[in-house]
Amino acid sequence: MKYKAIDSIQDLHNFGEFGGVNPSISDSSTYTFLSAKKMFDTFEGKTEGCYLYTRHSSPSNLYLGEALAALEGSEAANVTASGMGAITAVILQICSAGDHIVCSRTVYGGTYAFLKNLLPKFGIQTSFVDITKLDSLAHTIQSNTKMIFCEAVSNPLLEVADLRGLAKIAENTNIPLVVDNTFSPLSITPVKIGADVVIQSLTKFINGMSDGVAGAICASKDFCLELKDVNAGAGMLLGSTLDSQRAAAILKNMRTLHIRMQKHSSNAMYLAKKFEEIGLKVSYPGLRSHPGHEVMKAQMNPEFGFGGILTLDLEDLDKANALMEAMQHKNLGYLAVSLGFYKTLFSAPGTSTSSEIPIDEQKKMGLSNGLLRISVGLDHDIERTFKSMLECMLALGILPREQMATTAI
Ligand code: PLP
Repeated sequence: MKYKAIDSIQDLHNFGEFGGVNPSISDSSTYTFLSAKKMFDTFEGKTEGCYLYTRHSSPSNLYLGEALAALEGSEAANVTASGMGAITAVILQICSAGDHIVCSRTVYGGTYAFLKNLLPKFGIQTSFVDITKLDSLAHTIQSNTKMIFCEAVSNPLLEVADLRGLAKIAENTNIPLVVDNTFSPLSITPVKIGADVVIQSLTKFINGMSDGVAGAICASKDFCLELKDVNAGAGMLLGSTLDSQRAAAILKNMRTLHIRMQKHSSNAMYLAKKFEEIGLKVSYPGLRSHPGHEVMKAQMNPEFGFGGILTLDLEDLDKANALMEAMQHKNLGYLAVSLGFYKTLFSAPGTSTSSEIPIDEQKKMGLSNGLLRISVGLDHDIERTFKSMLECMLALGILPREQMATTAI
């Protein structure tokens, strides 16, 4: 059998420069040009494959961007210094003073705070809506609405957005649909079902190591270039560029994402079913009882499951805190925010990652202060994990003993 000869720089680059199995890390903040004219043309955005200055782009960031574009099925992707760096750049690129945004009311607390508290200073207003009610959402669109923003699976309530339905509204009104897919990488591919821009906090599942902060914007080539424009690009001018060293590390970690997501999902599904069986108030998109179950089924890539996050509503903050402390004591996970780690992570969002949302609004959206968000880890023996969790609940009186008597553990 004859193999095609490697005959271009592009081929070599795909093999990793100098023959390494991983691309070399670009350890430079600035790049040389052989001619002054080429430097000028690069500033003007007229060259391809030229590097200028790492805040604009770097080979390591480009490799990670290419991998993320392939992951999300977008034409291109830019990487950023954090998920919030991606969200803020996208919003400020698309919206100007006097514009309006329609956003799901259940989004990450930082996103909510940015839209609610910071953007009005720049004359941008947001209507927070129930994303599962497409009819009423359509009525909140105004002549100055410039964006529909949601999370594919929301933080922390795990509401599932009907992305096909939202994409139809977005298309009919000519408004971009921006989807934060941080909770459901691989499980959902929003671009394939109509999203215009997909955002990822790489800090979570995609990196999976809880050792770095990063984000991504997956979109059309034109939009990604616009963000990098030296004169008016929000990515370039707000300065939320990812460091090349971190980009290279994330790219390597991302190579195992497909395996990790399958395990996160199967472990979360196991625990969710068990918690439901014993009568706990559990929410997980993989359960038939979840209001978004059918929507999720209709838009997911089934081989990656329903994701690694579930919530347990203990309806009381003290109980929730006691359970988290007990589970940590038994080494079942860590009392920590964030998600997508090998180890289970749990927190009470009402007093942590969603604390930016005022209490009355938390109540309106159904976020009780006894809600536990659990990012299920990669435990090899999830049955054993469940049994130990039950022991914690029993010891704390979270499960009535009568209920336990009927529960095989
Ligand atoms: N989007 C979601 C859904 C998140 O949960 C988070 C952080 O928790 C972010 C965005 C922000 O990401 P980062 O912390 O990387 O800025």
